[in-house]
Amino acid sequence: MKKLVVCKFGGTSMADSKTVAQCASIIKSDEARKFIVVSAPGKSIFEPMKVTDALIACYKEAKETGSCANAFHHVRERFERMVQELGVDLDIKSELDAVEKGINEHTETLDYAASRGEFLSAKLFAKVVGLPFVDASEFVFFDKHGNFDAEYTNDKCREVLGKYDGAVIPGFYGVKRNGEITTFSRGGSDISGSIVARGVSADLYENWTDVNGFLVADPRIVDNPQKIEELSYKELRELSYMGASVLHADAIFPVKKAGIPINIRNTFEPENPGTLIVPNSEYHNGKVVTGIAGKKNFSVILIAKSMMNTQLGFARRILSVLEYHEMPYEHMPSGIDTLSVILDTTGRSSEELEAIVREISSAVQPDSISVIDKISLVATVGHGMFKKVGTAARLFTALARNNVNIRMIDQGSSELNIIIGVANDDYETCIRAIYEEFFL
Ligand code: ADP
Ligand code: ASP
Ligand code: MG
Repeated sequence: MKKLVVCKFGGTSMADSKTVAQCASIIKSDEARKFIVVSAPGKSIFEPMKVTDALIACYKEAKETGSCANAFHHVRERFERMVQELGVDLDIKSELDAVEKGINEHTETLDYAASRGEFLSAKLFAKVVGLPFVDASEFVFFDKHGNFDAEYTNDKCREVLGKYDGAVIPGFYGVKRNGEITTFSRGGSDISGSIVARGVSADLYENWTDVNGFLVADPRIVDNPQKIEELSYKELRELSYMGASVLHADAIFPVKKAGIPINIRNTFEPENPGTLIVPNSEYHNGKVVTGIAGKKNFSVILIAKSMMNTQLGFARRILSVLEYHEMPYEHMPSGIDTLSVILDTTGRSSEELEAIVREISSAVQPDSISVIDKISLVATVGHGMFKKVGTAARLFTALARNNVNIRMIDQGSSELNIIIGVANDDYETCIRAIYEEFFL
């Protein structure tokens, strides 16, 4: 049987006419590349702004003044230039007029406006590569609360794309059952690519971006980090959830259902084989650690109470308070008499956190309760770590040597990661110290 590959091109790959032409040549160089998912044009050396951000500005302007004419100028100009430079036969003016009108009319939520970069990008790329445009609104579905409906989507995706030999599809959005456009969170085109890969039963999901693959650490923090040749779905999930933003943390789920490998590739260095992400990986190239990732700005609630381990329902009462506030928790390491709850408080007010602390206090009557803010979490991930005696010791010694004070330690039950909490100010030093210890 012939091989079938789904390609997703990210924002930097779709940024301008040069990069779009490069993507087209990648498609043409392998006939297995039939279904293509595209992002909105992102940043490039010539373009300081992502189209999605420009569209968010359009939404705000339309909501405040009734018309997005000012902010839409940037979007219009960018697409008109690309169409002209690429010489494609597309009535971009009509498309842009319809989008501008649509943004002025859809001011109840941000999603319609935010999604239009992908919509226009796919219209354009479909013409460039001579494949049909198929709208994601035909098969990517969300429920009425805006949660992704994976199984209905997969059935619909099979049905709709089954009629085509190949297509270009906009990433990042779908619809609720009532037809209302709904987006994933930022970076969500990675999920769309994964949905299409599962839907057409692809042999491979190629995710084309602007780096040579999944790197051991964030290249914006570590200079020229090594590339990971191969990693497992589980390692990927840990690393992307913990901040390795090269792939959206939820992109793993659709392909995981079908066991399809993901290949992270560099649009600007297509001969590089990139990183292969497979269901199970024994490949560690002699390395103990596979990768390092992290995120800033967590809050930790420290709760102490003697003999808490003997009190039935202690943790449940704490979790009920969080549930009431619709506040998910990230980690909850505990000792005999202490328990810490680590929360991502981005976008939450300090009043809300204070209310949570008050309510936990009255629910469990602790001996003491306090909050530490501005904590970063750093995950050191790898299947290889736990076969190797002394890994944790090496990690902690490296941090001590670099004067990084560890505020929290959590070793996931998966035996796949060690997560530590450090002050935001120590975040970069911490990642560099771990990288140096295990990779240099
Ligand atoms: P795209 O627009 O193609 O989706 P993104 O900007 O979303 O690209 O993701 C690629 C970027 O992710 C890289 O340019 C890099 O700065 C960043 N990044 C963060 N952590 C990592 C990592 N561990 N490996 C590779 N890239 C990473
Ligand atoms: N264009 C969207 C964003 O900027 C989605 C994506 O690129 O994946 O977040
Ligand atoms: Mg991305």
